[in-house]
Amino acid sequence: MPGRSTTSIHADRSLAESPDVAPPIRPSTTFQEDTGRRYRRSSHETTERLEAVIGALEGGSAVAYSSGMAAASAIVSRYRPDRIVLPEVYHGVRDLMERERGAGRLEITDPSGLGEGDIWWVETPSNPTCQITDLEDVAANAHAVGAIVVCDATFATPAGMNPLAFGADVVMHSATKAIAGHSDALAGLVVVSDTEEAEGLRDERVVHGSVPGSLDAWLALRGVRTLPLRQERAAASAQLIAAFVDERAIRTWYPGLASHPGHDVAKRQMRSMGSLMSIDLGDADTADGFLTALGVFTVATSLGGVESLAEHRVRSDPETDPGLVRMSIGIEDVEDLVADLDQALRAVGR
Ligand code: PLP
Repeated sequence: MPGRSTTSIHADRSLAESPDVAPPIRPSTTFQEDTGRRYRRSSHETTERLEAVIGALEGGSAVAYSSGMAAASAIVSRYRPDRIVLPEVYHGVRDLMERERGAGRLEITDPSGLGEGDIWWVETPSNPTCQITDLEDVAANAHAVGAIVVCDATFATPAGMNPLAFGADVVMHSATKAIAGHSDALAGLVVVSDTEEAEGLRDERVVHGSVPGSLDAWLALRGVRTLPLRQERAAASAQLIAAFVDERAIRTWYPGLASHPGHDVAKRQMRSMGSLMSIDLGDADTADGFLTALGVFTVATSLGGVESLAEHRVRSDPETDPGLVRMSIGIEDVEDLVADLDQALRAVGR
């Protein structure tokens, strides 16, 4: 088995349809008859190459979508559960499920309410407080009653964790984040073990029309080449930064800290602790002051890009604590990031 960087760079090589070393951008929506391609919504070289790389990294078959939310919607539409377990998850996924519930199509339940064909949705690490779920444990309990486990592994990335190996049935990613990695593409992925199941998802995607755009697929493919390298660097910096903030007696949620309640499980199921963390600055004014003082970090939502971002999370998700700041650590020099955090924390007296 080649390593993860080699896989990221070469797993799609046999799918190249031209002699170019770098994949071409293929914007055409239609293809000449009898060339093996017909219409872009049905099949597209760049999308298939992206799927080949993610499938190889995850140890399954990947299907690409126009966004992470399109991937989540495709899962709901394909598996049509009556009930779902929904712990701390990305607020967009929660909104999707609440809408399904409001329309009478879905019940949100606790694990004891799950039955045949239902979904136990897991996001590990979760957004925004990096809660860790033991996938093997959840899979054993879900499978015992005939339910399936869906794991949103966006925070972990395919370089940092492979949920199928721990019993998850379906993995999803917002490829908008670390996979594309440069805050310039919107895409999503679903990964399953079975190639026929992936074909079923693809058939439905043709009908729903939720394929990635050609440039987005290309940017995601371009980005994934360096995913393992970027993740290694960002996670190493995140570990240092989390320890630095934690030492100042600021509540810090990062799975790489021994004090994090999910640390031991994270060490077992994650290869890398990732680049996301949240800190609690106590109240909204302090959080705002801290963000205003930052100079190297960009104040913006989203995550997983080369640049470090910090966000007053309550602006995106009204259910989070008012003092919570979520940080996505990028690949700048860590000394500059630490110095920036140091001066911004001093500016608000922390
Ligand atoms: N899942 C998680 C954990 C996310 O953080 C996000 C976006 O922030 C999504 C899903 C949705 O992805 P997208 O914005 O690509 O639709």
